[in-house]
Amino acid sequence: MDAETDLETALLGPVLADRACGECTACCEVLTVDTPDFKKPGGTPCVHLTARGCGIHAVRPHICRTWFCAWRRVAALPDAARPDRSGILASLDFVKSPRNPFEGVSIMVRMLPGSDAIESGMAGAILDSLCNRLVPVWFGDGTKKMLMHPDNQVAGFVISGEAAPAHLSDEVAAWRERYGVFGEGG
Ligand code: SF4
Ligand code: SF4
Repeated sequence: MDAETDLETALLGPVLADRACGECTACCEVLTVDTPDFKKPGGTPCVHLTARGCGIHAVRPHICRTWFCAWRRVAALPDAARPDRSGILASLDFVKSPRNPFEGVSIMVRMLPGSDAIESGMAGAILDSLCNRLVPVWFGDGTKKMLMHPDNQVAGFVISGEAAPAHLSDEVAAWRERYGVFGEGG
């Protein structure tokens, strides 16, 4: 998990000094935690979560001390995008058996239950802030997840290994260099 935490700093940036979790506890409810010293299922509140926040704050597990969502790391995300206020939780996501090159390590943008982030425009603002780097971005609405970045055309060329047209070739080459090992394995 430490390696993953380092990846978070490399791909999302360091934790920002001027952003605090405040009353937000979205990650304590939504996320799956599976580390040697602490596990919790996703989509259900942690057994230690109380109405006033973490009930074991002073002795909370290592992962809870070192993990931060994208809002705590990416300055380009709007201040109003704090998960409990925006209805969106974005974070780095790791899939152990990825089905394609964009799934192993990516940014997952999740709609929280009851969120109105699509109607309010917040979902679009958050995606705009995250879909500008060489890190895949997925959007999950609670029932399915969709690849938002790179776009379908670029993703298709990266996965198929086919030659891309000139206007896409640099972008396809950059994604392949970082994520293209799948295509070469057949
Ligand atoms: S989801 Fe982000 S802002 Fe909310 S408690 Fe977790 S790390 Fe803090
Ligand atoms: S131990 Fe505390 S900080 Fe960690 S998930 Fe549970 S409530 Fe959240």
